[in-house]
Amino acid sequence: MIFHVLTIFPDFFRGPLDYGVLARALKAGLFEVRIHDLRSFAHDRHRTVDDRPFGGGEGMVLKPEPIFEAVETVWPERGPGRRVILLSAQGRLFNQRVARELAACEELFLICGRYEGVDERVAEHLADDEISIGDYVLSGGELAALVLIDAIARLLPGVVGNEASVRSESFSADGDEPPILDYPQYTRPAVFRGWRVPEVLLSGHHAEIRRWRRQAAWQKTMRLRPDLIQRHRTEPPAPEPLKQASDSAKLERY
Ligand code: SAM
Repeated sequence: MIFHVLTIFPDFFRGPLDYGVLARALKAGLFEVRIHDLRSFAHDRHRTVDDRPFGGGEGMVLKPEPIFEAVETVWPERGPGRRVILLSAQGRLFNQRVARELAACEELFLICGRYEGVDERVAEHLADDEISIGDYVLSGGELAALVLIDAIARLLPGVVGNEASVRSESFSADGDEPPILDYPQYTRPAVFRGWRVPEVLLSGHHAEIRRWRRQAAWQKTMRLRPDLIQRHRTEPPAPEPLKQASDSAKLERY
């Protein structure tokens, strides 16, 4: 998979991808991240990428021309395995299900907004999808893009050494199973400040351990995230991936 990222701060991406499983997978060529500087698609003397909002109001808005030009230069053709994603506080919420959906793509183009946001024509006529990483406002889309890259890349074959561990992580159940949290993990020492690890984990009885973990995962989910189970009971099936930009207007946010 290739992630393209369009940003006014290309250096932002130095560092976060240099650690752990993602760094190893990048080095091994299991996926690629290509950073594109938005200013290199602006052609005036000052490489202007923003302007004042029509109708007045605070701040500046990212202009549409350099953003359209960036996507059309990198992808002269848009195929079904390619998705343009606008990072936006107003988008549909990112979660493990959306990560799985996007991990099936060949290439993603992530547009990072800044200032007061991005000219709405980008969402309407260029992006296939508008995605938010949570109900809060960040200063820019760069951190959100990194969140998507991390969560999606670890689902790609070979990125996480032990693929079974990815399948059993929090939110990872599929089909009829609710996406519950991972079970609690413990390591040595068996007693720390008087707090003992659950005895069953030291017993060596694998069937008992599996049963305990499943029960503990349910209990933790009911205590901390009962909404996951509730939502699973009432939620409609995942929407089909979008086919073209104009479909994004029809996407129901869920
Ligand atoms: N005026 C916008 C609003 O109220 O929705 C917020 C703009 S924000 C300061 C600047 C940029 O940060 C956005 O264009 C978007 O790219 C990014 N951003 C902010 N919050 C985000 C979130 N929760 N998820 C994804 N991107 C976000």
